[in-house]
Amino acid sequence: MNGLPDQVDVAIVGAGLAGLTVAWRLQQDRPDLSIVVLERSSRPGGKIRSERVEHAGGAFVVEAGPDAFLAQKPWAKQLIDDLGLGDQLLPVAKMDQAVSILRNGRIIAWPSGISLVAPTELKPFLRTPLISWPGKVRMARDLLLPAGSVDGDESIASFARRRLGQEAVDWIAEPLLAGIYSADPEEVSLQATFPHLKALEEEHGSLIRGLRATKRRRSLDGPPPPTFVSLKNGMESLPQALAARLGEDLKTGVTVSSVTDEGEGFRLFTARGRSIACRQIVYAIPATVTATLLPESARTLGDAIGAMQSSSSGTLSLAYRDEQITRPISGYGLVLPGKEGRAFNAITVTSRKFAERAPAGWTLLRLFFGGARSPATMSADDQHVLDLARGEVRELLGVTGEPAFWRIARYPVGNPVYEVGHLARMAAIERDLPEGIHLAGAAWYGVGIPDIVRQSNEIANRIGASLPASKVRDVAMV
Ligand SMILES: Cc1cc2nc3c(=O)[nH]c(=O)nc-3n(C[C@H](O)[C@H](O)[C@H](O)COP(=O)(O)OP(=O)(O)OC[C@H]3O[C@@H](n4cnc5c(N)ncnc54)[C@H](O)[C@@H]3O)c2cc1C
Repeated sequence: MNGLPDQVDVAIVGAGLAGLTVAWRLQQDRPDLSIVVLERSSRPGGKIRSERVEHAGGAFVVEAGPDAFLAQKPWAKQLIDDLGLGDQLLPVAKMDQAVSILRNGRIIAWPSGISLVAPTELKPFLRTPLISWPGKVRMARDLLLPAGSVDGDESIASFARRRLGQEAVDWIAEPLLAGIYSADPEEVSLQATFPHLKALEEEHGSLIRGLRATKRRRSLDGPPPPTFVSLKNGMESLPQALAARLGEDLKTGVTVSSVTDEGEGFRLFTARGRSIACRQIVYAIPATVTATLLPESARTLGDAIGAMQSSSSGTLSLAYRDEQITRPISGYGLVLPGKEGRAFNAITVTSRKFAERAPAGWTLLRLFFGGARSPATMSADDQHVLDLARGEVRELLGVTGEPAFWRIARYPVGNPVYEVGHLARMAAIERDLPEGIHLAGAAWYGVGIPDIVRQSNEIANRIGASLPASKVRDVAMV
């Protein structure tokens, strides 16, 4: 393809948030280095996709993938500030009762004071019908049980069951995990996702006591900042801003099809028969693709990387007039636990979560499907998923009539699943990774947007520190 350099200092494969962030940080910190980002699709941003839909004289913002990020982890917000987009930040609407949950076909309020998997406030916990009385008694036993003797990693389900009992797994941990990881809590590693829960158990002898202490400590710091934030014109403004800064260093429509070792560096080959030599390479693509693109010097890692699991998920957004929703829920989220056996995992009332996402008088809903729990929906065609969704919102929210428009997004094998033992596997992979090869993105150390930015910053720092002044630019100047 025209416009590809013959050689660069650093080649980055994949222009999702990870690849773009590594590239921009490098561009900022080491302007002497030459870089190229190669992206298979025609648009950068990977899973982050926002669409502005003009309808009935107003504008909707429809998110295909992420619609917000955790503001308490500072790295994404810092990146947004560094890009000059700080004034675009959009906090999630503040509501007393943000989330509801379905139990036995009834919509009930998510009890306030639940922190991750355990209650931290007594009254709402005692009052909630989400957990049965025997279930509550079992959860309270966490206060008496000694810290567990599990050495090393365990699944989130195993940990929650051990401390709090099966109801905490079925009605709290499972829906939480389905929302964040689209994964089965029986498989997901505690160490790789919520390591601080284990640390709290060890420090306080009880998860409930530990979470309460954390909450008390935080309350001394004053009122909490908004938990989740987004960007006014949609999450895609972030990769778009990064891509604009990268300019000619970003090449879209270029699929990397193989990588070989070459001298002290590597050579990348594209699907259209071009090649680029580089001193270092960053794989900012899913694990399964990374496994097929390793050079000979890293081939032994292919099996371990290729064995990493991922689940498939999708979202369906539906636009209705407000009056079509005859039984609105009180907040912006309805969680549908696996035990309820529904076709969808959750419903977000996007236009309540962020009023700016739909014109006045309109409700924008987003339904989540697929994941570990309902993989069959992923293979159903769009019309079938739409029919299922219309039935679901009719039954749960009393929706009448047809949506004014709808958008469906699918992410086949798009959600990395950190199985038990993930961190030990990663340590082994990192140990054997040849010098000059870097792994960035959701597959390795955190799927959330702030964690991806953190890892990408670290990789850019590592590359910046390890590469002496550019040889490639010297050659170009001769
Ligand atoms: C439905 C959904 C909802 C989510 N919601 C949230 C949320 O609300 N908050 C949050 O923090 N996180 C959320 N996430 C997670 C977050 O969006 C992702 O973890 C993150 O965007 C992944 O970024 P990445 O750069 O690691 O990978 P990707 O975005 O997958 O980017 C990888 C890029 O590599 C390209 N590529 C692949 N193979 C090649 C090749 N051979 N050659 C060249 N290019 C290649 C791809 O086209 C892609 O652009 C959500 C994810 C999904 C799927």
